[in-house]
Amino acid sequence: MVRCFIGLGSNLDDPINQVKTALKELAEHSQLKLIQHSPLYVSEPVGPAGQPDYINAAAEIETSLSPEELLDLLQQIEQQHQRVRRERWGPRTLDLDILLYGETELNTERLTIPHPYLTERNFVLRPLADLDEKLSLPSGKKIINYLADCPMGTLVQLSL
Ligand code: ATP
Ligand code: MG
Ligand code: MG
Repeated sequence: MVRCFIGLGSNLDDPINQVKTALKELAEHSQLKLIQHSPLYVSEPVGPAGQPDYINAAAEIETSLSPEELLDLLQQIEQQHQRVRRERWGPRTLDLDILLYGETELNTERLTIPHPYLTERNFVLRPLADLDEKLSLPSGKKIINYLADCPMGTLVQLSL
């Protein structure tokens, strides 16, 4: 089993409920084990302006799926949430990204792990540090050090 971290985000169609439902779907999936999840956060949108705020969270899971199989599973769940891909970084009902997959570093056409923007997004760094304040990237660099250097903007914790 590999210890992985998943980033969740939503800004359409009742985003709090979208994220809570996705956490439940992860918890109930037979091919992974949900260890814990962070509180939910409200964050400002990245990308095109004028879209609603986002709800974000992170989840720690264990799985024996490969990174590609895990991405397939996450994309299936996104589809169940009627995600429609239009413009890049546009509004969405659910985004599930692989943030970390054990100590693996990967760069293929479909997958970049660790997630390429992990170290510069407050809405990813904060919930990751909530889950494990000692967490490091495969490079050995600590999440909390990136967090210290990252502007917090308007990130607000919502609930557990
Ligand atoms: P961002 O990468 O900035 O968070 P996004 O999550 O909005 O953008 P999506 O539209 O969800 O981007 O996904 C676009 C593609 O990104 C996916 O089809 C997938 O192949 C690819 N991808 C690359 N690395 C990852 C990763 N670590 N987790 C999830 N998808 C990834
Ligand atoms: Mg994303
Ligand atoms: Mg994505």
